[in-house]
This record gives sequence, structure tokens and C-alpha cells, in this order.
Amino acid sequence: MEPRFNPPPAVLTLLDRLESAGYEAWAVGGCVRDTLLGRQPHDWDLCTAATPQEMLRCFAGLHLVETGLQHGTLTIFFDHTPYEVTSYRVDGAYQDGRRPGTVQFVRSIKEDLARRDFTINAMAWHPERGLFDPFGGQVDLSSGLIRCVGNPDDRFAEDALRMLRALRFSAVCNFSLEPQTRQAIFARRAGLRQIAPERVREEFFRLLGGRAATAVLRRYLPVFAVVLPELAAMKGFDQHNPHHDKDVWEHALAALSAADPTDLTLRLAALLHDVGKPLCFLQDADGVGHFYGHAEKSAQLAQAMLQRLHTEGQLCRETVELVRFHDLRPVPETRWVRRRLSRFGPVQLRRLLALARADVLAQAPADRAARLEMIDATAALAEKIIEQEGQLTVAKLAVNGQDLLRLGVPQGPQVGALLHRLLEQVLDGVLPNERQTLLDALEREVTKMP
Ligand code: ATP
Ligand code: MG
Repeated sequence: MEPRFNPPPAVLTLLDRLESAGYEAWAVGGCVRDTLLGRQPHDWDLCTAATPQEMLRCFAGLHLVETGLQHGTLTIFFDHTPYEVTSYRVDGAYQDGRRPGTVQFVRSIKEDLARRDFTINAMAWHPERGLFDPFGGQVDLSSGLIRCVGNPDDRFAEDALRMLRALRFSAVCNFSLEPQTRQAIFARRAGLRQIAPERVREEFFRLLGGRAATAVLRRYLPVFAVVLPELAAMKGFDQHNPHHDKDVWEHALAALSAADPTDLTLRLAALLHDVGKPLCFLQDADGVGHFYGHAEKSAQLAQAMLQRLHTEGQLCRETVELVRFHDLRPVPETRWVRRRLSRFGPVQLRRLLALARADVLAQAPADRAARLEMIDATAALAEKIIEQEGQLTVAKLAVNGQDLLRLGVPQGPQVGALLHRLLEQVLDGVLPNERQTLLDALEREVTKMP
């Protein structure tokens, strides 16, 4: 049974404007694939026989953005939603396995589909003409296969990023790679070094959110290792430790699968939390393995890896923080939670607890139940405290730096240090966060000062 295509009215309007001016037009790529998979497409891309100049004439009066026009792409806004329409094109010569320098506009949809990466992405649909599928995309979709359009070796030589795209679709859709496509990826993987870090990052991060991410990382580790060799150092690294029944790599993968796939920060931290272990290994006289300082080492490596991929500031910072503090042992006590909440804030504290959970689930099963119980009790207490008190920081104390100066504390680092001591006393419940009480306490401190 043909799944129901349900394009937004804007798509029908755009197709109709082009076709009534005599230019063939189709919905294409991801929206066709996702509809056939029974998923809601997240956007609708169109393609047309009209050249960019002809498109401009057809769309006169609409809200247009011309940023991609040299490559044949026009963006049209309907109700703040962008729709991309691209002229049928073939790509000019590729340079160094990166994007082509030039494009050439053509009049045949089949030629346009032939330049696309995978058969499942090379289908077009039109409300009257139905599906156009010259490369067997539908068959591959129903057998769950990623297959290059044309010769995989050539296609990956043209654009090496397609290798990561193949792995991303495999992870997200839980599809396999058709054998020749797979072989070409192993053979051509070094080409990934040519790709702009931002493009690698985009595909790698989307892959991490996929339901088959773990299986794909395991199977294609040598491909990922081209860009992130630190991952490969984890594989086969025996921990010689009774808490662990897996090598460092399998432990990392198990932690990854236990982490919420919709939280990229957490997924990255789960994958990277022990990446520094191979560099911190020590075996004691009894042959037991220890990894002193591995959280800090892992944080340093994680930071270097994320920076190599030009990862945006907050994501990088938060991931590295989770890795650095992943070994915190949750204690379901108000004091413990308040201090961590003050330090990390609610979002990061929740993630640290989720990471601790994933870490335990990825270790040997002995003591698991008791450790999970500690974590869950701490998480429940944290929710209560977040709801009742929120995050208490120096800035939220009932006194501030001005008060200290008035009490005669000289301007300088002492002011901050005193406020922090005060904060700790409030967090520990020694003092209430009330102005007069805090001022009295400060006054006592100040008179004791030399
Ligand atoms: P999603 O938007 O979910 O990532 P998509 O298939 O729409 O999926 P896009 O990156 O938006 O992916 O690309 C749109 C279409 O352009 C793809 O379906 C594919 O046909 C084609 N395409 C994208 N990148 C490449 C590439 N590197 N090489 C060849 N064709 C590509
Ligand atoms: Mg898309």
C-alpha cells in the first residue's frame, strides 16, 4: 500500500506555480524517504526543471531568499517556514573529495536524481504523477539498505562526507549498508581527512542520536578513527578490574546506549567519559587495574576531540564538564545535593546523575542494584530541591560584595572567598539565607580577621 503523502499546502502551491508555467517540478529527497518510511518529514525540498532565473519569475511576489542561487537553490518562506526549491542540476568537477566548485543546470529529473547520494534519497514525488524512483530506492527502503547511486568508489571519491552520511542514515534508520557501499567506505575512509570539520561534526552528532548508533560505532570504528583516533585506543583495552566485565570501548558503547538519545550533550559525555583511561592505566601488585586521574585526562581528550570538530561553545563546555565530574558518587543527602546543584545547576546536575546511571549500567552487574538505588534516590531528592529551592549561588545570597566592603573588608579576592564560605554554610544548612543573620555572621568573621 502506498503510504499517504501529506505535503503542506505551501508545497502544492509551489509545485503548481512551476508546473502551470510549464516547468516540471517534484518533491524530492528526505521528505519522500521519510513519508515512505511512515515518518513525518521535518522539511519538504522541491526540485524543478526551471533554471534559477525562471524560478525567480514564477515566484514573483512571494517571500524569497536568494542565498543559494548560484547553486540553483531558492528559499521561499510561507508563514515563517522555509521551503527550498532547487533547479535540476549535475555537479561539476569535484576537488579533493569535497563539494564541487561548479554546478550545471539540466532539464531532466533523472539526471538530478543520479547525482544524489543514496537510492533511498534519490526518489521524487508529485501529487498527480506519483513516485519517480529510477534507482530502486523503494526496494532498498523496504529491505533497510543504504546503497550508493552509481559506483560507490566513485561517489565517495567525489565527496567523502557521503561515507559519514551513509553511517548516519544507518544509525538513525537502523539500516544496513549494501556490501559494495560498505567495502568502499572501508577502502576510502582516509578521504574523511579532507572534509571540513563542521560537516563531519554535523553528521557525527546526528548519528549519535540514532537508535542504532552503538552498533554502527562498533562496526565502523576504523572509519570514525580517521577523525577521532582516540576512540580506537579504547578498543581492546582490558581494565583488569572486578567492577568491569568489558574493555574500555565496549564499556563506553554500553554507556552510550543507556543514555537518552535526544540529549546530545549526555550522549557525547557517555561515549567519551573514559576516553583517557588507556593513558592512565596502572596495575597494582595483585594485578588489579587502576586509572587514577582518568576523569581529568578524559576531559582533556574530550575537549581536544570536540574542538577538532569545531564544536560550538556551550555544547563543548557542558560535555567536558560532565566527563570531568562523571565519577562523582551520588549521595541522597540534602547537603550533597545542594552543593552540587549550586555548582552545576539543575540541567547539568540531572545530566551528571543520568551519566552516573548509564556508567553503572555499563559495568559488571555486581552491586548494580544498590548503586542504582543510590543514584535514583539522589535524583529524586534533587528534583525536590530544584522545585522547592532552585539553584543557590553567591549571586542569590541575601548579602553581597557591597555589604562586605561596608564592613571594612578590602576590595580584592577576599570578598569572593568570604562570600563563598558563607554560601557553603547556607548550602549546608548551618545558616539560613536571611540578610540580618548573614550580616551578623559576617561581622563576627570580620572582627576575627587580622
Ligand atoms: P535530513 O534532512 O533528514 O538529513 P535529507 O535526505 O533531506 O535528510 P539533506 O542533507 O537535507 O538530507 O539533503 C537533501 C537531499 O540532497 C538528500 O536527500 C540527497 O538526495 C541530497 N544530498 C545531500 N547531501 C548530499 C551529498 N553529500 N551528496 C549527494 N547528495 C546529497
Ligand atoms: Mg533535508
